[in-house]
Amino acid sequence: MRVPEELSPLFDAQNPFRERRAGLSDAKMIYFADGNNVLAPIYGAFVQNSPLELRKSEDGRCYIFERDEQLTEVLIPSAPGWYSRPVSDEPSDAAAKYVQMHSIMQLASMPFANCALFANGTPCKFCAVGYNARRKPKPVGKIARAVEFALEELPYFDITLNTGWSSAPSAGAEFIAPVASAISATCSIRVAAEVNVPRDVEGTFKLLKDSGVSAIILNLECWNDEARRVVAPIKADKRAVMRALEGALKFFGVGAVSSVLIIGAEPKEETVRGAEELIKLSILPDVLVYRPTDGSLLAAQGAQPPPFEDVRWVMRNVRELKDKYQTWKLIAGSAGCTKCGGCSITTELLGLPRQSRERQALAKQVYLRG
Ligand code: SF4
Repeated sequence: MRVPEELSPLFDAQNPFRERRAGLSDAKMIYFADGNNVLAPIYGAFVQNSPLELRKSEDGRCYIFERDEQLTEVLIPSAPGWYSRPVSDEPSDAAAKYVQMHSIMQLASMPFANCALFANGTPCKFCAVGYNARRKPKPVGKIARAVEFALEELPYFDITLNTGWSSAPSAGAEFIAPVASAISATCSIRVAAEVNVPRDVEGTFKLLKDSGVSAIILNLECWNDEARRVVAPIKADKRAVMRALEGALKFFGVGAVSSVLIIGAEPKEETVRGAEELIKLSILPDVLVYRPTDGSLLAAQGAQPPPFEDVRWVMRNVRELKDKYQTWKLIAGSAGCTKCGGCSITTELLGLPRQSRERQALAKQVYLRG
């Protein structure tokens, strides 16, 4: 969605320190009247080709236009009050440096906001997290303090912690575990961890579970082996990913494990096949649409999002899986990001429950005052 320069401050407030996340979630929150939300890409160069544009009317409301046709009103969450609260004695040490909102009920933090694959020269080609300036893990206590501030403002947040890859046996989860422990010790909040394929599968998932993590996101990205080698070389060995997913299931149970597949990163039939194989294993496929993130290798090669027809085709076919496999209700459970659903289309496709109406109403009251 194109956003005129004069309206960009509305979105800059959502991530004032411009921290980039791994993968495809480098986008901004918008809400529709029916309560659905989207993390809309607004910064990438490819956005300039979008037929959609945000415009503000004289009454101060925001609308999405497709060329000159007004499609719908959108609400843009206001900046949370807790973002600017200092987490140390230094007044400029703002909570938003450590934790951000991914939706009005979902927090996100990347304890180590970088990835060793960039230094190795083998990053995932859709990812730009290696361009974050931060080279050291964030202090655990400051992340926990920021979460406390957020919960004081709205007591119903969940949080997802993610990480780049490291060469340790837990492949980056060693940065997540102490943060999850610190948060769980002081706050009542559900913690999901987005992790890489660990060499020590048992040890890593035991550590995360003991630290208070209740859901795991471990991403396949593509089902097609050739596409995997090209797009995410570190995850080229599909059997290793599947073994790790099964290990996660053993520790966290059905309903608490999900895996991202990217529409547009492989032939569309393969994405649907991957979704079906995941469902058969009782893992929730979380289907995202590819967007070329500025700074990523794919964006530099001129990659574009998939045609809308392909997205619709995948949506239709994944939707049919819902009817074929009655198990999806169990699988969906509380698996990580799907309660938010801003990045992916899974929540809408499968009609997954978001947070309760009461919680949504309170979050809207706090952050969507129009
Ligand atoms: S493992 Fe891949 S997606 Fe994750 S942070 Fe590293 S390069 Fe990005």
